[in-house]
Amino acid sequence: MKNILISLTVLLLPVIIHAQNKSPFSAREIKDVRVATPGLFAKSNHLYLHLDSLQEHEYAFPLPGGKVISAYGTRGGHSGADIKTCAKDTIRAAFDGIVRMSKPYYAYGNLVVIRHPNGLETLYSHNFKNFVQSGDTVKAGQPIGLTGRTGRATTEHVHFETRINGQHFNPNLIFDMKEKTLRKGCVKCTKNGNGIVVKTHTPDNRVAQNNQIKK
Ligand SMILES: [Zn+2]
Repeated sequence: MKNILISLTVLLLPVIIHAQNKSPFSAREIKDVRVATPGLFAKSNHLYLHLDSLQEHEYAFPLPGGKVISAYGTRGGHSGADIKTCAKDTIRAAFDGIVRMSKPYYAYGNLVVIRHPNGLETLYSHNFKNFVQSGDTVKAGQPIGLTGRTGRATTEHVHFETRINGQHFNPNLIFDMKEKTLRKGCVKCTKNGNGIVVKTHTPDNRVAQNNQIKK
């Protein structure tokens, strides 16, 4: 009986391991950058990213010591911020999450996209090399690749994007890109038709304004 049980376990082990490695993402989510996150706005048109509740070990600037050489929105609608240190420097996961994409992707070159538990996605591209695969769980600060100039890039750097429901927004709302620190507050994402409006959430704004009016 014992032998049968052992044999069964050995036989089933590859099946169990295979099931655990199965990617939680659909074929499209693994293939395309711009895809909606299933169920993200199912209950409400608003989503709040509570940056203020993150502990020190739960976030990391993607390229420590890096300098922004091209900000979001520049050059006719740059979809991210270009951060530079030197060639083959270590790129780090900004937050805990699961790798959705890791592959060469058109002008992005070698690209990594991570989906975080709060719905935010971060993207890192032009990498010389990726260290992670789709379906991998990563921790904030974990090395995910090396800076390069793959795809359409004129210098070694990381092109860093923040996305909600597949749509990019200014990463300066999440990180102070100059100080390389996390913003201490709350970010409000509102679904507006097919678009998403992302803003710093200031719940006390109206109160403050009213107070000013009274004075
Ligand atoms: Zn860029």
